[in-house]
Order: sequence, then C-alpha cells, then structure tokens
Amino acid sequence: MITDADVDVDSIVYLNGEYLRLGDARISVLDRGFIFGDGVYEVVPVYSGRPFRMAQHLTRLEKNLADLRISVDMDRADWEALITDLIHREDHRYCMVYLQVTRGIARRDHAFPKNSTPTIFCMVSPFERPCAQRREQGLSAIAIPDIRWLRCDIKSISLLGNVLAKQAAVDAGVDDVIQFRDGYLTEGSSNNIWVAKDGRLLAPPKTNLILEGIRYGFVEELVAQVGLELEVRPIAEHEVATADELMLTSATTEILPIVQFNSQPVGSGTPGPLYQKLRSAYDQVIDNLEQA
Ligand code: PMP
Repeated sequence: MITDADVDVDSIVYLNGEYLRLGDARISVLDRGFIFGDGVYEVVPVYSGRPFRMAQHLTRLEKNLADLRISVDMDRADWEALITDLIHREDHRYCMVYLQVTRGIARRDHAFPKNSTPTIFCMVSPFERPCAQRREQGLSAIAIPDIRWLRCDIKSISLLGNVLAKQAAVDAGVDDVIQFRDGYLTEGSSNNIWVAKDGRLLAPPKTNLILEGIRYGFVEELVAQVGLELEVRPIAEHEVATADELMLTSATTEILPIVQFNSQPVGSGTPGPLYQKLRSAYDQVIDNLEQA
C-alpha cells in the first residue's frame, strides 16, 4: 500500500492500456524493471496543460528504447495521445508526466526474454516551479566522484548511482552534488551543470558520460537567442571551483544558480548576470507557452 501522505492515491495513472487509480495500480514482482532495473523513463514538464518540448522527450525515449532493444507497439501519435489524455484527467497548472517503459515480465534470467511484453506506466504529479527564494538565493553543492556506469546517456530506471549521489548531498547538508570523472565535470545528481567564466558559458560535451537533458538543448537555443557564447568542451574540476557562476538545469528545477560550491562562494556568492539573462529568457518562453 502507498501510505505516503504526499502522494495522491486517487490520481489516475496509465498502466498497460488501462486507466487506474494510482493506489490500485499493480505490477508483477517478475517485471524486469523491478528485478533488473531493465527499463527507461522520461519526465515531461507541463505548463497550463501544455507539455513543454514533448517532441524532444519522445525522441529521447524512442532512442533509449532502441538502444535497449525494447520494442513497443506505440508510435509517436500514440505517445502524444497518452500524455495529453492523462494531463487532461488531472487539473494542475504545473505538473510533470512520468513515463516508464520496462522490458516486461519474464522468468528471472539476465538475457533478454524472447517474448515479453513491455510494461508501460505513466503518471502525472503536480510540480512547483522553483520558488523566488531558490531563484534569488541559489543553491549549494559539493563535488563527488562520478561512480556511475559508462552509459549515462541512457535515461535508465537503474538510478542507484544518482540515488547515492543525491543522498551524499543530503548527508552533507547541501542542495546537490557536482560529479567529476577522472577530474572532469560530468553532471549533477539529476541535472546538467553549466559553468560561466569571463562572460562565456561552458558545458561538458554530450557523450556517454552524461545524460543529454532536454534543457541542455533548450539552453543552447537560449544562449544563441540572448547573444551569449557557448563553449562545449571537457571542463576540469579546478575550472568549476574557480567559476564566476554555476547553474544547473532539469525538467523540474528549470534553471537555477549554484552560489556555493564545496563551502566556498561561487563568484560573488549571488546569482550572476549570465544566470539572470538565461532565467528571464527561460521564463519568457514558458510565459508564451502558457498563453499560446
Ligand atoms: N542528467 C541527469 C542524470 C538527469 O537525471 C536529468 C534529469 N532527469 C538531467 C541530466 C536533465 O535532463 P532534462 O533536462 O531532460 O530534465
């Protein structure tokens, strides 16, 4: 039983072709998502009933499914219809759609089963846009080694490395972590990291070592729009430690400044000018989406 008071057990979720109360949705203990973490997911933010960048999220989902050789009997229109339908069953100004696909139910054996039917689950939960305090005061972070596997580009439901990373932040009393592999920046626990130095923005390359966030592509567009320069290249830990500004992006945090890193102020210790520019360009796009 779900007993967490924060979860609306009466909200309607989608599971394998059926619409159910969240409190009634059940999957088999033999589901490969449960047994092996054998599946992928997406989180699509929705503003005033309008999914933001749904096409890009679905492209990433389809790519991830293809990478894992999970074939699903859903085309683009089916995914869009599912997401739109679920959003309209709930009445939230801001919500996020969580969509998960696993390889389905099979006898426990590591290799792919011959005939399993993928499990498709989708739910909608309310989400609060980052509040004024977080935008204006910013976040704190510490450095940790990136101990994850070498396919961080797959949005896998096997999130143990990310779970341990986020718990390291909680244990240290900070908001998040910044992960480094072999001395180079990868990403946050569940977000992409941006570094500002001498008026330009730096970002790590889109390789197998990071998840290419949908916000990554969006910020690339915003950077061009506001006339900033973006340099995509490996970023050494000392460059992060001496940055003028640090920021993180994800579906639910949108874009937020990191003002303290390893207990030291980042730049002036307050949200900087590049952040302010990107934040207002970000808000403008969302305002337009809401009014469209
Ligand atoms: N990296 C990781 C590890 C993440 O979990 C996420 C968010 N799910 C991101 C980056 C940012 O991706 P997006 O902008 O699509 O939310």
